[in-house]
Amino acid sequence: MRLVVQVKLLPTPEQATALEATLRAVNTAACQVSRHAHEHRTFRNYDLRKHTYTQIKDGYGLAAQAAQHVIKKVADAYATLHANIRAGNLGKVGSARRVRAESTPIAFRAEAAQPFDDRCLSWQIDARTVSIWSVAGRLKNLRFTASAEQLKILSAHRKGESDLAYRDGMWFLIATCDLPDPHVKDPDAFLGVDLGIVNIATTSDGARHCGRALNAVRHRQRELRRRLQAKRTKSAKRLLKQRRRKEARFAANTNHVIAKQIVTEAERTGSGIALEDLQGIRDRVRLRKPQRVTLHSWSFHQLGSFLGYKAARAGVAVIYVDPAFTSQQCSSCGHVDRKNRLDQASFSCTSCGFAEHADVNAARNIAARGETGWAVSHAA
Ligand SMILES: [Zn+2]
Repeated sequence: MRLVVQVKLLPTPEQATALEATLRAVNTAACQVSRHAHEHRTFRNYDLRKHTYTQIKDGYGLAAQAAQHVIKKVADAYATLHANIRAGNLGKVGSARRVRAESTPIAFRAEAAQPFDDRCLSWQIDARTVSIWSVAGRLKNLRFTASAEQLKILSAHRKGESDLAYRDGMWFLIATCDLPDPHVKDPDAFLGVDLGIVNIATTSDGARHCGRALNAVRHRQRELRRRLQAKRTKSAKRLLKQRRRKEARFAANTNHVIAKQIVTEAERTGSGIALEDLQGIRDRVRLRKPQRVTLHSWSFHQLGSFLGYKAARAGVAVIYVDPAFTSQQCSSCGHVDRKNRLDQASFSCTSCGFAEHADVNAARNIAARGETGWAVSHAA
């Protein structure tokens, strides 16, 4: 399995200046290659290399590999754009968006991320330093921070390219790691997970991961955004962008913590994890407007994917089940009735009288469906 490890760099002021100059140089070069590609209608890596390699290598003082990565970055960007146009993602022929995309060369931001291969970047993991090529010469002893687990994964499984990225005033290296797939244990039972808004995740054993803190942060941010948006100044826009990033980081962190707790619990009890098949969750959920905003900004898919990969890493079985009527069905007798659900939090079966927290009841249904689904798919 593929895993991405992101470490934060701790450059000295001189190193930071060199990194900044490097990203600016490679991205200015990328813009030049992109203009050439657009003008001459040549988009293949090989052709672009023939016509622009020497020019950008000499013109911007790039190392050979850096120049090649720049050209590949441009070729990849056009391949993606053309695939999007073919797929109709930019509208029909002649639509304003499509015309704009086709008539202007792709531009690269001055701080856009850049890939570095092993010849341009070497890792001294025990010392927590890297040595990296820059336009101001090779930067040695560039320090980084990482958790003990990240260091372990890096030293055992890091492979190929890493991206140098600049975000919110901080420098990062994003390394790709290739881990062997762990053996998936045959589960004794299933832990069902119900994803929601009031409770971000509820499991069939009754554990509720409440979204109150997160929703409170969201609400505060939204108020602040409204005030900033009213201002329309440049600094307000910049602040707005920072806020959005901060909110996304907070949400991702919350998702990581919840996913980890659930996977640890499944591992401890020898269970598999049953998740709702999230395709179409937006169609299924009908909500009042304020909640819909929360739902849209809240990434169910992120929590689902964190659960998926953390489970895979731990060798915990995962199964995706049909989410239809999980909130209206009685997990004790199977009776389905909209009236079973008294309000947001309470479930009470009109047929057998079984009562439970609504989300726990739904999670139990998901667990039961997981068990059945697993039995069917592993019958042979
Ligand atoms: Zn019942």
